Amino acid sequence: DEYAPLSFKNWQPVDGWYDHHGSLDAQGLIGDALLERVEDIDQDVCEAGDEDAFFVADLGDVYRQHVRWKLNLSRVTPHYAVKCNPDPQVLRLLAELGTGFDCASKSEIEQVLNMGVDPSRIIYAQPCKTKSYVRYAAQKGVKQMTFDNADELYKTKQLFPDAELFLRILTDDSASLCRLSLKFGASLDSTKGLLELAKKLDLNVVGVAFHVGSGASDPKAFLQAVKDARTVFDQAAEVGYDLSVLDVGGGFCSDTFEAMAAVLSSALDHHFPPHVRVIGEPGRYYVSSAFTLACHVIARRTVCNPGEEGKSYMLYLNDGVYGNFSSIMFDHQQPTPRILKAGERFLHGRRPDGAYDPLAEHGGKLTEYSIWGPTCDGIDCISARSKFAETIDVGDWLYFEDMGAYTKCSATRFNGFTDNHEVVYICSEMRARAILGL
Ligand code: PLP
Repeated sequence: DEYAPLSFKNWQPVDGWYDHHGSLDAQGLIGDALLERVEDIDQDVCEAGDEDAFFVADLGDVYRQHVRWKLNLSRVTPHYAVKCNPDPQVLRLLAELGTGFDCASKSEIEQVLNMGVDPSRIIYAQPCKTKSYVRYAAQKGVKQMTFDNADELYKTKQLFPDAELFLRILTDDSASLCRLSLKFGASLDSTKGLLELAKKLDLNVVGVAFHVGSGASDPKAFLQAVKDARTVFDQAAEVGYDLSVLDVGGGFCSDTFEAMAAVLSSALDHHFPPHVRVIGEPGRYYVSSAFTLACHVIARRTVCNPGEEGKSYMLYLNDGVYGNFSSIMFDHQQPTPRILKAGERFLHGRRPDGAYDPLAEHGGKLTEYSIWGPTCDGIDCISARSKFAETIDVGDWLYFEDMGAYTKCSATRFNGFTDNHEVVYICSEMRARAILGL
């Protein structure tokens, strides 16, 4: 790695996962952190907001994802996409691990620079930039930036002629959760013209960038994108540029990572000689599984369904789609509710006092719930239909795993609720603890 080499000699692949003697029981740590935080709250006397939703973040999980990246995609230097989750501890860990950063705005650049990261480790990966932000990037020496249209080239000529430019190209992102090519990317029939214009303006084009769509599900999307990038490298050579960097963007998901990395690595090796530097802009991959969100049941409504046996309930939580569940609207997620505490009992699966089997206790009978956020809007629905063996009541707590990507960062203050929920940090990797001084 060009920034900070790490030694992975203690790490062994285990069933597609990676473990070593310095790992702790992550599930157990997360469970204990959730329960300890909740135990402290007495909702009958607490101050307003003390029972607000909160996150538990396992920085060890972020560390493991980094190791996994390096083991599978050693040729690609990750530039973490800050927009996905600008959590300061996550950024600090990644900065220490030597990743680069993909920033999309002045404040993201500022946040990363303020941690002491060298400007050369940042790419301003936004093809349509605000003029004053370009001036800021120029002032701070953040040279790497993307473009995909002629107007952006004129803007760059005026404000930052020394910028190191990446031509962002269109991809087939039809198999992704969030399609970015609807908005960004030059088609292959326009790339030659853009490169000629850049040459005429005496601008410094150094590479090609693409993004196969956030939450990409088809590893083959990378194949075509890498081939197209090769075509643009060749076009650039005809225009007089010797491009040296390829930016393969983000889109990586934890579930399919090894398959994607294999397709991408072999496409890279096939189309690009080793002297071409390759960077990526993973966001979701690094943080999704590291964050667990706990929410409090603030209200409940009983629904009697005529003609149907039994009751169902509407549960109202103190977080919703205008808050950290913004991922339901913006990121097409369907978070799964789990019970943390019902009545006086803690139910989180991995308590040291043994596994709890609610179904056995209730003879297999399930109650149906719909789960809603706290705002006045009917769109604020977290789950239309969830079933639990437990009876969930006001004051109980639910938790949701995999809440690290595109959640907190796109929360609003709609209805006056907070958009800044507490994060309780834990770290299940000894090496990451040492790096962070925990
Ligand atoms: N790079 C750019 C330019 C993006 O727009 C995004 C997401 O929107 C990312 C990287 C991160 O994508 P992901 O979280 O899918 O890895």
